[in-house]
Amino acid sequence: MSAIETRSAGTTDRKLIEPDMTERRIIEPKMIEPKMIEPGAFLGLLGGGQLGRMFTMAAQSMGYRVIVLDPGASSPAGTVADEHITADYLDPAALKHLAARCAAVTTEFENVPADSLRFLAQYCRVSPAADSVAVAQDRIREKAFLASAGMRVSPYKVVRSVEDLRSGIDHLLPGILKRSRLGYDGKGQARAKTSGELIAAFEQLGGENCVLEKLLPLQVEVSCVVARGFDGQTVTWPIAENQHVGGILDVSIVPARVPAAIAQAARDAAIAVAHKLDYRGVLCVEFFVLSDGRLLANEIAPRPHNSGHYTIDACITSQFEQQARVLCGMPLGDTALHSPAVMVNVLGDLWARGEPHWEHVLRHPRAKLHLYGKHEARPGRKMGHYTVLADQVDDALSAAMAAREALRADARGEDRAVPAT
Ligand code: ADP
Ligand code: MG
Repeated sequence: MSAIETRSAGTTDRKLIEPDMTERRIIEPKMIEPKMIEPGAFLGLLGGGQLGRMFTMAAQSMGYRVIVLDPGASSPAGTVADEHITADYLDPAALKHLAARCAAVTTEFENVPADSLRFLAQYCRVSPAADSVAVAQDRIREKAFLASAGMRVSPYKVVRSVEDLRSGIDHLLPGILKRSRLGYDGKGQARAKTSGELIAAFEQLGGENCVLEKLLPLQVEVSCVVARGFDGQTVTWPIAENQHVGGILDVSIVPARVPAAIAQAARDAAIAVAHKLDYRGVLCVEFFVLSDGRLLANEIAPRPHNSGHYTIDACITSQFEQQARVLCGMPLGDTALHSPAVMVNVLGDLWARGEPHWEHVLRHPRAKLHLYGKHEARPGRKMGHYTVLADQVDDALSAAMAAREALRADARGEDRAVPAT
């Protein structure tokens, strides 16, 4: 593995590199032929997180080689990739190097600057395209896009200044204020009951553009991962039923325990979003199902998604393998579920008393453990996940929850014998 130290993380002077990025205005993006990229080729990946690690492993198992570009010196994807470029996402020299080495580049990090993707597209195939990613990076654009694609969305108002919170918001109270950019896992959000609370929250969020949404009575949350190839063919995976705790995905249950009509509507909506964006790659649409049964589109992630991790163990083709197939212009794989599954996120909280006892998970012969190789376990940090398979989804759920309760009891320091297998 080689590391090319082009610029150390956090020290990049964005002003210095911007002039170079303007090249995109004078160079037309290359017409991308949907030709197949054969195994053995190098694929580039912007972002070194766990989604990138799982993409890298899937691509490598098909014989591709992967170069990760990430500002961190050590990252979950960087440590398994064939090469790791330590550089800022906006570093033109690093981007040019990546494009020169790779047949195609993709991203695993939602907030990778759209400009970086645009810049790369001058030199090599990039999927998804900068314009698609840009829509999902900005909640204001995303909401308008979803509504224009015919989806129902939560009632909302765009908030650009405190003045926008002083009047005309009664119908959105109690509300949830979300920063338009750079939010994830419930970060950059605040819930509030009054205009005064919202103004304080807006200031706390840095006074940046926000969306104020009405806090809705959710019956259940679901998501659908969809892949769309260069030929416009789409496939969806079975929808996941998602439980969040503190804004972070906690558990995904598949198949989702919702009426078939809702599951179908979510799959249709995800396909409509992919077509409307002219999307090439894997994306996820998150939905709310309200207590009256209505389906609302919440947000789009222009990449594989945490709620699609179950596809690694429970489907014929995982979301990560599919990302590699699309990127390489290969035929799409079958997304069929071969077993009901429950995926549980493993957060750093479980390390409170040292390395968790993984036998609590692995004593279930149909449980699969995935750890992301992160060295520091912090509360709320996604360290890994496990997926439990069973013939019935309820059995998968009870086994997954029993394993988690045992892990939590250990983290709390409760004296608890490890059950015999
Ligand atoms: P993030 O980008 O952090 O995932 P989301 O918009 O998906 O942001 O919000 C995180 C979670 O907060 C959602 O999965 C849901 O549980 C809850 N939430 C968000 N918006 C609403 C809403 N309008 N009403 C009720 N709950 C909401
Ligand atoms: Mg979300």
